[in-house]
This record gives sequence, structure tokens and C-alpha cells, in this order.
Amino acid sequence: VLPVGCAVSVGREIAVLNHGYVALTEVMGGDRTPARTARTSFRNRVERTEEEDAKLTRYLVSHRHTTPLEFCQVRFYMKMPIFVARQLVRHRTASINEISLRYVQASEEFYVPDVERCQRQSESNKQGSSSALVEDPGIVRLLIENAGRMAFEHYGDLLKRGLSKELARMVLPLGTYTEWYWQADLHNFLHMLRLRLDPHAQYEIRVYAEAMLELARPHFPTVIAAWEQNQ
Ligand SMILES: Cc1cc2nc3c(=O)[nH]c(=O)nc-3n(C[C@H](O)[C@H](O)[C@H](O)COP(=O)(O)OP(=O)(O)OC[C@H]3O[C@@H](n4cnc5c(N)ncnc54)[C@H](O)[C@@H]3O)c2cc1C
Repeated sequence: VLPVGCAVSVGREIAVLNHGYVALTEVMGGDRTPARTARTSFRNRVERTEEEDAKLTRYLVSHRHTTPLEFCQVRFYMKMPIFVARQLVRHRTASINEISLRYVQASEEFYVPDVERCQRQSESNKQGSSSALVEDPGIVRLLIENAGRMAFEHYGDLLKRGLSKELARMVLPLGTYTEWYWQADLHNFLHMLRLRLDPHAQYEIRVYAEAMLELARPHFPTVIAAWEQNQ
């Protein structure tokens, strides 16, 4: 459920993982904005056809003339596990405003992977998972769920004993859900997607990147098609 006052002015909301979602809340500019912006170079104020703009857009994207893409912006409201947020926050060109567990009490919502995601540590990729599952995925899920429940139980206990929220939150797991506005220009948004849609990126951030791409696609069909062709 989106927070009060969060005007979803465009697009829809996509559910991600067990409690998360991504909503595209605002878009600045459109598919023809980069071409129109780029034509400033020629002090060209004549309106062009859609096809002429599309041709120029494809040229800009394939030749990495990226500044005209910066004249478009996308703003998302997202709910994701803290460890996904920790990865996404590394994209420094985005603007972020996050809920604060100093102000509000955490909701008891944490990520528990599906059985088919309970994969073994990869032997070839030190960062990643292998395609094989652990021997007892059901038990692994139960352990994760119990650890989360117990952490939230202690959290509630600490709050009842009067401990401040800013300290009590320390005991919560990395799988706890957080929420934020995430905003970037189209160039840096696509740069983030290139890195986070890659098969080397962790599955849990990849599914958020996929949702963000699908929400943005109807607003920038030519730009995104050209970008995908140039990957
Ligand atoms: C699969 C994967 C694994 C990763 N593993 C780790 C890890 O183990 N540990 C870890 O710490 N990080 C890790 N990262 C994060 C990674 O190192 C980058 O911080 C992250 O991908 C953001 O990339 P970026 O700097 O290009 O993006 P942004 O921060 O969005 O920056 C966009 C571009 O702006 C420019 N820029 C931004 N800030 C500066 C600056 N200060 N100086 C110069 N140029 C700048 C650069 O050209 C940069 O490419 C991983 C990322 C991926 C995708």
C-alpha cells in the first residue's frame, strides 16, 4: 500500500518479492525529449516528425551522446529488503528519501526467499549462488523465518522497555523491508539498470531493476528499445 500523499500520477505498481513493490510515481519529459534537446546544438526550433525524432534518438543512444537523456527524470516509490536498498544506494547519482526507523516503528515484514531460491553458495563466483539448491530448502526457509520472527519479538520487547526506536532497530535483520523515493535522470537510470539487470547482479536486486524497467518502458519506448539494442 502506497503511503498517504504519494500520488501515483503515472503507470502502475509491480509487486516484487514477498512484501515489496515498485511504483512509478512521476516522469519528467518523454520519449521525444532527448531528440528535441539534442537539436539545440543547431539552434533548431522547427518541429520534426515522430520518425525523425526516433531516428535521432537511436543515433544519440548508439553513439553514447548521453546528456540529452539527462533531461528526462523518473521517480519511483519502492519497498524492498534493506540488503537490496544497500546495493541500490551505491548508485550515487540518484536522489533518495527513505523512511526512518528513528521516527516510525518497523512493520513486521521481512524477506523469506522461495524454496527455489534457496540456492547453494557458488564455487566459481565468490559473490553468487549456484544453480543447485541446498539439501533441505524447506528447513532453510524455516530457519530464516524463525530468525526474523525472533528478531522482531526482541525488537518489540526493547520498545516496550522504553528503549528508543533509533537503538531498538539494531536487532532487526537485513531482510527487513524499507521504503523510499528513488529518483534519477534517464541516463543514470539506464546506467543503473545495465549493472543491476546483469546476470552477475543478485537475483533480489535484479527483480527490482526488471520492474523499474517495465514501468518506465511505456514512457520512453524508443529510448529503451535503442538502449536494449546497444547492450
Ligand atoms: C554485480 C555487482 C557487484 C558489486 N559488488 C560490490 C562489492 O562487493 N562491494 C562494493 O563496495 N560495491 C560493489 N558493487 C557496487 C559498484 O562498485 C558500484 O558502486 C555500483 O555499481 C555503482 O556504480 P557506478 O559508480 O557506476 O554508479 P553511480 O554511483 O550511479 O555513478 C554513475 C557514474 O557517475 C560517475 N561517478 C559517480 N561518482 C563518482 C565519483 N565520486 N568520482 C568519479 N566518477 C563518479 C562514474 O562515471 C559512474 O559510473 C557491485 C556492483 C555490481 C553491479
